Amino acid sequence: ELLLLSLAISRLIAAVLGGGSGLTLTPNNPLHLTTFDGHLTTDASALSAASRDFGLLTQKEPSAVLRPASVQDIARLIRAANNKPSSFPVSARGHGHSINGQAQTANGVVVDMIRRHSKTTLGEAASYGPRVSAEGRYVDVWGGELWIDVLNATLEFGLAPNSWTDYLYLTVGGTLSNAGISGQAFNHGPQISNVHEMDVVSGKGEVLTCSREENRELFHAVLGGLGQFGIITRARIALEPAPKRVKWIRVLYSNFSAFTEDQEYLISLHAKPSSQKFDYVEGFVIVDEGLINNWRSSFFSPKNPVKISSLGGTNGGVLYCLEITKNYDESNADSVDQEVEDLLSELQYIPATEFTTDLPYVDFLDRVHKAELKLRAKGLWDVPHPWLNLFVPKSKIAEFDEGVFKGILGKKTSGPILIYPMNKNKWEEGTSVVTPDEDVFYLVALLRSALEDTQDRTQTLEHLTNQNRRILAFCQDSNIQVKQYLPHYTSSEEWRAHFGPQRWDQFRRRKMEFDPKHILATGQRIFSMEM
Ligand code: FAD
Repeated sequence: ELLLLSLAISRLIAAVLGGGSGLTLTPNNPLHLTTFDGHLTTDASALSAASRDFGLLTQKEPSAVLRPASVQDIARLIRAANNKPSSFPVSARGHGHSINGQAQTANGVVVDMIRRHSKTTLGEAASYGPRVSAEGRYVDVWGGELWIDVLNATLEFGLAPNSWTDYLYLTVGGTLSNAGISGQAFNHGPQISNVHEMDVVSGKGEVLTCSREENRELFHAVLGGLGQFGIITRARIALEPAPKRVKWIRVLYSNFSAFTEDQEYLISLHAKPSSQKFDYVEGFVIVDEGLINNWRSSFFSPKNPVKISSLGGTNGGVLYCLEITKNYDESNADSVDQEVEDLLSELQYIPATEFTTDLPYVDFLDRVHKAELKLRAKGLWDVPHPWLNLFVPKSKIAEFDEGVFKGILGKKTSGPILIYPMNKNKWEEGTSVVTPDEDVFYLVALLRSALEDTQDRTQTLEHLTNQNRRILAFCQDSNIQVKQYLPHYTSSEEWRAHFGPQRWDQFRRRKMEFDPKHILATGQRIFSMEM
């Protein structure tokens, strides 16, 4: 331990001598005097891993990585980081699935929150596997727990969280720092609306429990707080009885207003008994001829072959796919088909385009992992991802369709484009997340992958990045007041505009209270560190 620590410190000093900014280590720096239960490492592979993320768009190498073995380790590190004149930045890193370096920090320390990485060496934190209270209908999890592991642990008790992300290899702390959304959000709200309490190490190094009753300001600040106020070490997440199986249905539209009318109708059923609504409502846009053809064979019922490309003919070639699910188990196995049929009978999709599949609940929730494995096998996972995620107000979604799906995208997408509406009243007030000022807003997620060795200019990082800029400029010029989800800005003016005057004041006040020296999550580029 001591050897590692001194290695780490020499590396930190080297960083400073080498002209790095952020760290000014002197022999009196408290980090010299700090011992950790876990490991502070400067191992090249650890530094390299912490300097990259899923986006592969930006790279910043930290001076050291802490693999904590206790909550106190994180508190010790943050207290040391606060010590002027040798303060340094600290960033929690979950699974590093950010796009724009949000969990990176140059010349600071990254806290590797993934429990799996440290399982063999962790003390207290290793015993922090998900702990289910079947009676209380909740699970306590370490902030660096992956959602897939939360699911597997809770299913042993026949329970599961009710609000998800589409992909489960993300950490609890990482998604709660944003919102955590998927097709259940219309009904249950985002993941941040389904947390009972948290343990947080604040930017001052205090270990605090917070909830709606205790340290309420910190609780709300941290939820959707982009890592700015504290590091989540434990979250208590609400559970409900887990269904066994899922009917997963896709239907197509060529008419955008019919598509959005139906989506909005389906989410308006949120207060109905579960037999009278779907459990999940999402959708996606098909603008790409190639994508249409590729999907033809698997997407449509073999009994009912449809020439999909002919369906788009009247609509600039753009199609819209509604994706819905109905959960079931022994209690409603006999009635589920009728329930689905009743709901579908209200919708306006093209009748011949209905495709249903029936699968275990876990397989449905973990569906994106299967796509990941396929892309990995083709070398298409570890490529740059210039993603753009926008919340679009309902009143402007048709304009967005005309300008972006039928306009700017120009029949090429380079990845899925998700679109689904959510009910704002399911988003708890007071959290740090920013959403449009309308009762219903859409997520539009342009999840594109760039190719490096390609002759096709439309697949390049440069082209896709420019397209993102054009989309944002179009929204600005057309007064479509979008809010970025997983926001990425590079200037404080843009951050201020993102929050709006009131929310910005609140966010800044919270920063002053919980991380006054701006130590935490500098990779978000919201506040610069006070030196
Ligand atoms: P990281 O990238 O490691 O960190 C993100 C931010 O959170 C950083 O600022 C970091 O400092 C901070 N942070 C991390 N851990 C903690 C902690 N314990 N305490 C405080 N701050 C912390 N999002 C959705 O909502 N729905 C989806 O369906 C969805 N699908 C996705 C699919 C893929 C393939 C990918 C790559 C991303 C997806 N996302 C989705 C986005 C994802 O939720 C965010 O990028 C999330 O931040 C990733 O979690 P992570 O553990 O990798 O966080």
